[in-house]
Amino acid sequence: MSELHLLSTQQLITGLQDKQFSSAELTEHYIKRINALDSKINSFITNTSETARAQAQAADEMRAQGDKRPLLGVPMAHKDIFCTQGVLTTCGSKMLHNFVSPYDATIVSNIDKAGMISLGKLNMDEFAMGSDNESSYYGAVHNPWNLNHVPGGSSGGSAAAVAAGFVPVATGSDTGGSIRQPASFCGLTGIKPTYGRVSRFGMIAYASSLDQAGSMGRSAKDCAYLLQPMIGHDPRDATSIKYDMPDYVQDLNDAEAAAGDKPFAGLRIGVAKEYFSKGLDAEVETTIRAALKKYEELGATIVEVNITDPDITLATYYMLAPAEASSNLSRFDGVRFGYRCENPTDLIDLYTRSRSEGFGPEVQRRILTGTYALSAGYFDAYYTKAQKIRRLIVKDFEDAFANCDVIASPTAPTAAYKLAEDLDPATMYLGDVYTIGVNLAGLPALSQPVGLTSEGLPVGLQLIGQYWQESKLLATAHLFQQHTDHHLQHSTIAKETV
Ligand code: GLN
Repeated sequence: MSELHLLSTQQLITGLQDKQFSSAELTEHYIKRINALDSKINSFITNTSETARAQAQAADEMRAQGDKRPLLGVPMAHKDIFCTQGVLTTCGSKMLHNFVSPYDATIVSNIDKAGMISLGKLNMDEFAMGSDNESSYYGAVHNPWNLNHVPGGSSGGSAAAVAAGFVPVATGSDTGGSIRQPASFCGLTGIKPTYGRVSRFGMIAYASSLDQAGSMGRSAKDCAYLLQPMIGHDPRDATSIKYDMPDYVQDLNDAEAAAGDKPFAGLRIGVAKEYFSKGLDAEVETTIRAALKKYEELGATIVEVNITDPDITLATYYMLAPAEASSNLSRFDGVRFGYRCENPTDLIDLYTRSRSEGFGPEVQRRILTGTYALSAGYFDAYYTKAQKIRRLIVKDFEDAFANCDVIASPTAPTAAYKLAEDLDPATMYLGDVYTIGVNLAGLPALSQPVGLTSEGLPVGLQLIGQYWQESKLLATAHLFQQHTDHHLQHSTIAKETV
């Protein structure tokens, strides 16, 4: 029983079906680990063990009565960006330190309907702005592989909780890399689906045209299991799209059954020199190149493609994302939600002080930059111009996909850096250089672990797919994972028994 948290989602499902353990026992195992070890990691903002215990009990009863939902009784946890009815929903901010949501995000109710058990709400960069989880009002999260390092961000709590063995899978959100980059830093697999695949209803908005929810787990198959209940059209999100509904786990099983000893025969992997440009750490590059070699050994063909210069992509993202954020975050005014300053003298004082005291420095920086870019007189020079460049970025991806099936790159230019390095904002933004183009184009992409640095920190390979091809991406990672064991390496904290 001491190793339950090292099992894959598939093994957990089989174990529950075969009555090797109950959901109550499994849930208790994770709760015990969280209580014993999360003081070292700080991955949870809110722990919902009490309701989880009751749900697990109910799940066991339903299973005994013949309920066949595969995920019934399997634990998970949510990034604190998703509204959860009756449960504190902070988005990592003082602004929402007292916000108990009156409703569930669509993905929260969908995952609930699938029978999964939520163990709580996970730490994150404030309003999902950041790449190291250091901007959270609830404190920094520690990387379970090395506690002196960051877990990545903004879904840093989600990544750390899975990597520490506190939950098998967790939800995340990705506006410019926030699922993929922490997955890379914590040795996990994480997928950002095509824009529109998953409802954004009840996911607190950062940059609405870029935000997309997705799943994180140790393996591609773990991600497939959690992603399945998340997807689909939602009338409450006008940007969610009606499209044919794949069965991700079935697709992976089919891909596995069809695979010979060269599972990637016929697969063209595009590699762009722009993704191996300045700032890429030498050890990360070596590890990525070795993974590409492995893909080749397994039958894939590497082809050269071109994508937009990442410096241009970076500038475009850091114009558009703050512009949308400045608009989205105007709803937090001290009147309707969350934090309100003490003794305001008048309405303007109420707005000003509530926002100045409620938002942290990174969020304020983005609001200021975004408001500037949207202001009369600057709008065309900044916002409109960035939108035009965005169209060209989409075109460059379209051209690249004319010659390949998936594009591979490092997920991030470095492995997890040290906590409290106090990076200046521009340096931190550079860490997003390989992930943000995908969001500007609305494409699906994942990160998968492909090795460790000499310091023992994980390195992630990013795979970018064409629109709607999450199955292809997951299968490309899954078949790789059938022939390698990087995803089976465990962090220092995961190896601790309690
Ligand atoms: N690090 C990027 C940013 O700070 C991406 C964040 C995200 O995807 N939510 O904007």
